[in-house]
Amino acid sequence: MQKPVEIADFVTLTPTAEVDKARHGWRAKCLQRLIRLDLPVPRTVALPADTVRAIAAGQVFDAQALAAVFGPEMLVSVRPSPENPEWGGPGTVLNVGMNDDMHAVLSNTHGSEAADALYLRFVQLYSIHVARLDPDMFQQEPGPGSLEAALDAYEEETDERFPQSGARQLAEVLRSMARAWEGTTARLLRQAKGAPPDAVLGLLVQEMALGIGPGLSGSGTIQFVDGVTGGPQITGRFRGQSQGRKAAVETLYLTRDPRGASLEEADAKVFDTLKEFGARCRVKLREEMQIEFTIESGEVHVIDAVRVPRSSRAAVRIAVALAQDEVISREDALLRVEPRAITELLHYQVDPRAPRDVLARGIAASPGAATGKIVFSAAAAQASAARDEPCILVRRETSPEDIRGMHAAVAVLTERGGMTSHAAVIARGLGLPCIVGAEIEINGRERQFRGPKGRIFREGDTITLDGTNGEVLVGAAEMLEPALDDGFRTLLHWADLVRDIGVRANADTPDDARTALMFEADGIGLARTEHMFFDEDRLTVMREMIFADSPEDRRTALDRLLPMQRADFLMLFELMKGEPVCIRLFDPPLHEFLPHDREGMRELAEALDRPLSEVTRRVEALSEYNPMLGMRGVRLGVTVPEIYDMQARAIFEATVEAIRRGAEVVPEIMIPLVSASREVEIVKTRIDAVAAAVRTETKANFTYRLGVMVETPRAALRAGEIAEHAAFLSFGTNDLTQMTYGLSRDDAGRFMSTYVNQQVYSEDPFHILDVEGVGELLLIGAGRGRGARPDITISVCGEHGGNPESIAFCRAAGFDYVSCSPFRVPVARLAAAHFALLAPRGRAVP
Ligand code: PEP
Ligand code: MG
Repeated sequence: MQKPVEIADFVTLTPTAEVDKARHGWRAKCLQRLIRLDLPVPRTVALPADTVRAIAAGQVFDAQALAAVFGPEMLVSVRPSPENPEWGGPGTVLNVGMNDDMHAVLSNTHGSEAADALYLRFVQLYSIHVARLDPDMFQQEPGPGSLEAALDAYEEETDERFPQSGARQLAEVLRSMARAWEGTTARLLRQAKGAPPDAVLGLLVQEMALGIGPGLSGSGTIQFVDGVTGGPQITGRFRGQSQGRKAAVETLYLTRDPRGASLEEADAKVFDTLKEFGARCRVKLREEMQIEFTIESGEVHVIDAVRVPRSSRAAVRIAVALAQDEVISREDALLRVEPRAITELLHYQVDPRAPRDVLARGIAASPGAATGKIVFSAAAAQASAARDEPCILVRRETSPEDIRGMHAAVAVLTERGGMTSHAAVIARGLGLPCIVGAEIEINGRERQFRGPKGRIFREGDTITLDGTNGEVLVGAAEMLEPALDDGFRTLLHWADLVRDIGVRANADTPDDARTALMFEADGIGLARTEHMFFDEDRLTVMREMIFADSPEDRRTALDRLLPMQRADFLMLFELMKGEPVCIRLFDPPLHEFLPHDREGMRELAEALDRPLSEVTRRVEALSEYNPMLGMRGVRLGVTVPEIYDMQARAIFEATVEAIRRGAEVVPEIMIPLVSASREVEIVKTRIDAVAAAVRTETKANFTYRLGVMVETPRAALRAGEIAEHAAFLSFGTNDLTQMTYGLSRDDAGRFMSTYVNQQVYSEDPFHILDVEGVGELLLIGAGRGRGARPDITISVCGEHGGNPESIAFCRAAGFDYVSCSPFRVPVARLAAAHFALLAPRGRAVP
């Protein structure tokens, strides 16, 4: 015969009992805290995890000693207590100890109807979940004869009377709950929520507070903040003459309510007691708690309390309110909000309570949600915007030609692409919800797409795009509005007081700059100037420039672009009010500005007054096999220097004008795609000459900083000699990742999920900085740059800049700032504060 398990180490919860979260679970620890607060918690005994595990393993144990704690008329509940509340656990079992004798006692004190109902409920639950009998046999509705029917059914199925020993019932309930925890499904479910494989369960045995009886009796839950907004509001449920969480579904309103009776009116004293309990928990447990309570003839018992479940916006508001009331420190408030979660506050979100009909999934490339009608071209998007009809632009992939369409759309969906493809980068910059690499098949000719289950969606159909989760939904979903409220601003202001790395924004347009300012970025870390040339009037001049036959003709076209660029930069300088603005010189291959279809070429031939054949020939001549590795970036600056000359002049003239209007401007000019120091020397010589010329012409003095974008592995390796000509180095980790892996940022989306699923890469390196490979180049580049020029400014301006993981890396490596899409600035500010609080700053030496 197996030896009974020694359960002498169970512990009755008292203020001083030795209760350990790792052994007895979070609920035991939490109930002990409530007891320490002097809240009326019914007597509770905690069984440690090792005992529970032994019970699950089949060891026989004797529950007499345990049952004896509760006296001869034992009536208890058994509750799960895992180490972490997120990990779930078997359901609570109420009324253990219910038998014929207890039924008789309760019939006397509470009436036979209540006693019957309690006994019936226990027999049913025990038979189905503990004795594992056929549920169909135990579906009796409460009423005359149903208790007897249930007891008879038990006897018939098991050939024995329903167990009358409380100790035996308790032993069986503990055994079934311990085993349920070990089941495969339960294990997988909790592991999906982050539980380790060896996660353990404690169990709690608690005296029942009945919730039935004469006078005000019942059970419910109450909380003092709203779980969605975080604002002060009493919500919860209360049901008279009931027990347990589930029972409290049909409610008596808690507070006075025109729709019906309320607990507040039924018994103001009880209601005030509950409010006082909530206030006590808030201050002493330093948290907003949801309290589960039972009222027995006007007497309140606290059965349990859990952190109020909350949305991200509620988490921010609650943390800030607790700090403002000096319940927790500001540092605690910062650490209580998960940085990535605050993205949810910046955009519309699909209401988590709303039903979702998912038509397709893809890569969640830019967060937020929007509803609109499907369009398949930039032109259709613009037409739709002109009609004030929100639309969602659906493309196989996007190219610079689609930018105006993207501006006109409320969201973007592409069939191809990854986290740094064109659509993803632009959408994040614009704050547009975006999904790329979606499981859809576009049929452009039919103006429709097919979802994975063969469902067809046509132009004009309404869909909702949830860029936070990467889900495309059918129809219009219910939305929550953005919440850039005082709580949000206060929290981020506190973050700024502790963080020790700068956070700038990548901003190309005045709208971007305004967003950057709204999110209080420390300046602009990357203004991609090419995006300024896609407006219709500029595109034509740009094309004239590209088609120019001689440097003089080119300069004539560029002279027409000069005032436009000057106005762009002046606007940025003025908007940013003296915060640094880092302008990147022209980067993309020229052919991106040319039409690719016959119709476009014909229009261009007309506009330029040249034969179509010539236009076609020039467009073909400019096309490249590998444009991303071709004539772009500084290579254009060296071979067609007039473009950078014009841009430098526009920057300096705008600087002079901004200074004249009272701003303090020291522009930063950044050279893209450098791979050799000589490129920097050549460009720097010309830019210095333009600066000198502008100083002479305007008789004004100004300074500027010239820096280099480190986007090629060679630039990182040769950063020492490059640094001799550069005041700053900014790592463009999009191109640097592309070139380090030899992986096209526009095409990798097609196989990235296979690669990640098979753990070839642990993550998409365009999404999460590859600290091992690309990161090593960052360290080498930063170290060599600093070695040559100790005061050099070092930063990251690729899409990785806004990710908490990259910020941790850049901080540890002693970088001065990160620069990211404006809408990621708040996440970056909070993440930087977290790291400053959690780890002292060090400088990693390569
Ligand atoms: C980069 O390559 O990381 C970068 C910021 O430049 P772009 O994305 O414009 O190529
Ligand atoms: Mg780049």
